[in-house]
Amino acid sequence: MQPVGNEKPPNSPGRPASPFSAGPHTSSPFISSGPGFGFEASGSMTSMQNSGNGMPAPPSVKFSGPPTSPYLSSYSTQDATNYHQFQAPRFPTPAQPATPLQGPIVGSPVTNTIGSSSSQPQLSSVQLSSPPQTAMQSPSRSNIPPLPGSSLFTPKPPAQPSLPGYPSVLPRGNMPPSPADPLYLGPRPVSQPPLQTFSAAYIPPLHASPYYAHQVGAIPPPPPIATHLGFSSREQIQFTNVRPPGGAPIQDLTEEFQSLSVGSAPGSHDPGVDIKSLPRPLIDDDEQTKILESYPLNCHPRFLRLTTHAIPSSQSLLARWHLPLGAVVHPLAEGPDEEAVPIVNFGPAGVIRCRKCRIYINPYVTFTDAGRKWRCNLCSLLNDVPGGYYCALDATGRRCDADQRPELSKGSVEFVAPTEYMVRPPMPPSYFFLIDVSVAAVQCGLLEIVSKTIKSCLDEFPGFPRSQIGFLTFDSTLHFHNLQSSLTQPQMMVVADLDDIFLPLPDDLLVNLSDSRHVVDVFLDSLPNMFQDNVNVESAFGPALKAALMVMSQIGGKLLIFQSTLPSLGVGHLRLRGDDPRTYGTDKEHILRTPEDPFYKQMAAEFTKYHISVDLYAFSEKYFDIASLGSLAKYTGGQVYHYPSFQAVTHKEKFRYELARDLTRETAWEAVLRVRCGKGVRFTTYHGHFMLRSTDLLALPAVDCDKAFAMQLSLEDTLLTTKTVYFQVALLYTSSSGERRIRVHTAAAPVIADLGEMYRQADTGSIVLLMSRLAIENALSHKLEETRQLMQLKLVKSLKEYRNLYIVQHRLGGRLIFPESLKFLPLYILSLCKSVALRGGYADASLDERCAAGYTMMISPIRRMLKLLYPGLYRIDEILTADTENLDEPLKKLALTAQCLDVGGLYLYDDGFCFIIWLGRTVSSVLVNSIFEVDLSSFPDLSRVQLHESDNKVSRKLMRILKDLRAKDPSIFQLCWIVRQGEPREGYLLLSNLIEDQTSGTSSYVDWILQIYRQSQSS
Ligand SMILES: [Zn+2]
Repeated sequence: MQPVGNEKPPNSPGRPASPFSAGPHTSSPFISSGPGFGFEASGSMTSMQNSGNGMPAPPSVKFSGPPTSPYLSSYSTQDATNYHQFQAPRFPTPAQPATPLQGPIVGSPVTNTIGSSSSQPQLSSVQLSSPPQTAMQSPSRSNIPPLPGSSLFTPKPPAQPSLPGYPSVLPRGNMPPSPADPLYLGPRPVSQPPLQTFSAAYIPPLHASPYYAHQVGAIPPPPPIATHLGFSSREQIQFTNVRPPGGAPIQDLTEEFQSLSVGSAPGSHDPGVDIKSLPRPLIDDDEQTKILESYPLNCHPRFLRLTTHAIPSSQSLLARWHLPLGAVVHPLAEGPDEEAVPIVNFGPAGVIRCRKCRIYINPYVTFTDAGRKWRCNLCSLLNDVPGGYYCALDATGRRCDADQRPELSKGSVEFVAPTEYMVRPPMPPSYFFLIDVSVAAVQCGLLEIVSKTIKSCLDEFPGFPRSQIGFLTFDSTLHFHNLQSSLTQPQMMVVADLDDIFLPLPDDLLVNLSDSRHVVDVFLDSLPNMFQDNVNVESAFGPALKAALMVMSQIGGKLLIFQSTLPSLGVGHLRLRGDDPRTYGTDKEHILRTPEDPFYKQMAAEFTKYHISVDLYAFSEKYFDIASLGSLAKYTGGQVYHYPSFQAVTHKEKFRYELARDLTRETAWEAVLRVRCGKGVRFTTYHGHFMLRSTDLLALPAVDCDKAFAMQLSLEDTLLTTKTVYFQVALLYTSSSGERRIRVHTAAAPVIADLGEMYRQADTGSIVLLMSRLAIENALSHKLEETRQLMQLKLVKSLKEYRNLYIVQHRLGGRLIFPESLKFLPLYILSLCKSVALRGGYADASLDERCAAGYTMMISPIRRMLKLLYPGLYRIDEILTADTENLDEPLKKLALTAQCLDVGGLYLYDDGFCFIIWLGRTVSSVLVNSIFEVDLSSFPDLSRVQLHESDNKVSRKLMRILKDLRAKDPSIFQLCWIVRQGEPREGYLLLSNLIEDQTSGTSSYVDWILQIYRQSQSS
């Protein structure tokens, strides 16, 4: 199968040689030998490896050096610490057929225990075969304008580095033939119609669709008028809806904008500010579903949201918009069951696509010639309707079967990809675990939770009975585990030479879970005990990564890394560059936020090449360089999970939940994503976790419902001549069940020539998400302060432009005016500046926490991002003590300011990542006692109090509230912290997160609005 957009008719000739081909193969290692491919029922990869029908050669990473003796050991659950190690035979290359190792092993026993290896690994690092160093530069650095105040949000070349095998970005129209992917061979995709195809006078064909009226720019009515909000302050701010003077018709009670009138109140000594009147998002994001009223054929906005649902018709108009123009794509977003994406199988007819621009058939195509032809909505080409797909048209020119066909009536469909497009059998779900067993991991109790959680999920792994599993543990040496199904218990083989990694047993390190289930169970049962006395403090993380690549390269899959300490041995070892306060505020500040050693980016490129996605679980108590290690997840479509100062007793529930979700959620494998759009516009930059394979093809070794992608759009022509722009997201992937699928989302947006309309149709959620990703990337090459200033500047410029639209006409001097659609934007930008990733300086967040927060923000979908930026704060003591057990009433969200906290109250804060329960000084002790079973008068250490359900109504209600809030976003488990008013932890746990208040060096919401107002007034 071809990747999305690389697709071509299955029998197209000509395959460029793959730059990824490894070993002696002259053609791609993934070419199927004939029509008989497809997984055998057994699903065993072993048979694939030995079948000789063109499975891939081992990874091209070469390791040299004299061989040393690995050790082979076997252990039992009964006495895991008392195992024997044996010298294992060395296999010359991983690709050679393996001689099965069984029973008592060759070689002489070596008395040895882990942690006292006689073969001390060397510190010298092994160089990978050298990809061009220039290609490994930080993408962000090269993608971000060098000066603050310059065009932060101007579309720039793609943000991803050009890596070995991934062509550099070239101007469109100057594309060399694309090198073939190791998995998918085919010529360079034609992703967009050639620009010269249509003259400027081109007029789009009439659409027969009944929705044509919507497609030509019919605009939904302006949003309803908001409640009148007025408040006074030091400077007497009034927040009002403004209507143009002169009297609008009585029925036109809706307004285009709102305003804050700003001016000092003479003689006012009132220090209190009625901050309650400022706009704040106290209800959940509405997902912009109103767009579906005007565009019912569009996909649901949960899959695709533009930053404004009005595409500017000209470059000059776009230049006045100032905010980023782009989209947020969430291809696998979860929705209600009744809105499940329909699956369409065209069978032998094949998936129907435009011959020229390759878009998939969708509800916006039109049929002509009595149903024998269809016109592409993207490039207007007239395509033939395949014989088997023919259907007559009704009197309006619509196909009679349109309502019965999801691809002609729904904005989202999933096509089953036909077999003739495939060049290798769909891979089985594959999970490989890389587990740090050094003393740090043992002491924090990590191993037991890891092994128990994995074991509890084994029955729910996606893709039963095809799923594959394997383990590699490491400290200063690497421990391979033979899980061959014929064994009764696993065998451990220790490799101590870190300079010359090889696989002691190439075939049985990644095994079919069903076949080897009993061995896997024994392994997981014995893992915690096996290393319980380990005192080894070293971490051969880099060599372990290389070994994992060698094991996984045949299939691909997910690599889950559990790491508790800074990599210290072998290639990729890192130094404690840590939190050096002296670098903050200097030009070198940002360097700490970028990977130090190019090794990790190189490994990420290798992983992506072999369809391996990396999830990093980071547990270190000390500095750990998440900036470097996280890049493994960044470029492989993975995720960074950070548990600072992990302690099993505190964090186990959160960690267990999040790992279980990772292991059991539906995952799309070996995926590629492309977003096509109509003539005259194109996506130019992409932001998220992926590897950019060509100008617009995102490689995603694995992707799931918890990942969203952002991208910026630019106009290619000075003027757009169409009235509608179409977008089509296509995600080509292998389902866990082993089917190749193409998930397609199609949407249309009007082209407009009115700047006011761009503002009216603005989507704050989408803008905030795109801006936050641009800001995170900007902070990788700039000081935090500069990044924050840039965001503020963008906000000011856009409000100033908006003001200029109305100021003269409506005589609005002395007011800060803004469109209804963007009323929360100033608050979200303020909150972004105060987020862990971007706030303050050295002392305001640890470097690792900053970087981890940045990685999290780079994958978050809109709803999670908005919740993180404006968390929920609820007063719940009255709800808990009410007589009724009924909790149907939704919780009332409060403003995020300490002024909302009553000393007699009990409050719950929820940012989607953690809960904080705040106890006022005079909160009822009976209430506290029934929930936490502690007596506040005895000054208990609340950091040690564990929340669990007690047998009383209040406790049950609280637990239900927490459960309901957790259910709103199942991707993360909020850990609950309890804090009492006035105790030292209150500051960093809660008060610093009340973003409307002034905290060290930051503005309050009111001050921020005043600043923005003043700046937007100045010329
Ligand atoms: Zn087309």
